[in-house]
Amino acid sequence: MRQVFHDFISLLFPPTCIGCGMPLYANEEYLCTFCWYKLPVTNCHLHPEQNEAAKHFWGRLQDVQAASYLYFNPKSSVERILYELKYNNKPEIGILLGKKYGEILQNTDFARIDAILPVPLHSKKKRKRGYNQSSCIAQGLAHAWNVPVMEDCLIRTKHTTSQTRKNRIERYENMKEAFTIPYPLQLEHKHVLLVDDVLTTGATIEACAAPLLKIEGLRLSILTLALAK
Ligand SMILES: [Zn+2]
Repeated sequence: MRQVFHDFISLLFPPTCIGCGMPLYANEEYLCTFCWYKLPVTNCHLHPEQNEAAKHFWGRLQDVQAASYLYFNPKSSVERILYELKYNNKPEIGILLGKKYGEILQNTDFARIDAILPVPLHSKKKRKRGYNQSSCIAQGLAHAWNVPVMEDCLIRTKHTTSQTRKNRIERYENMKEAFTIPYPLQLEHKHVLLVDDVLTTGATIEACAAPLLKIEGLRLSILTLALAK
């Protein structure tokens, strides 16, 4: 009965594509086939140490590989996807895109990791949103590779102010010492993947990386869903 009701509602108000707003077919979820096909992929993973994502960390973090799935342009389908993920209570879209990216990266070094660490939100913000969008992306990747997501490894200690209106130096100052690792021993000699939603200046990821790279034998890789141009 519930399914019949659901089908009836879908007939009256078919779910629409987040990317283009067109009604979705029954076999489509969140994005229509056309929007999936048109996603602006960066292909960063083909050159893990020399790409537009990795260059944010050149001279700042040593021996890390980094990649982003999609280019983030204002008024684009990627902006709409991120809006839905962050502000419109759609954690599933993060999981779905994480899975897709995981499939793309299946045979790369990014998939040969011991644990995934999502960039944490401050607990106040997480309570308000109900979930951490980076954890959703991490869960999708973890599903594709069958590796654990370690949620409580990295703790956000500072409730930082918004980064949007700050320049690069102010962003670094704002984020400094914002993260801590209560039990670093469990990460010794592990290959750890840090996951975030958008890479803008790299200040947040760098602040997370600082305590991680102090851990003995830890190898760090970085992935984000989107890359701001
Ligand atoms: Zn579409």
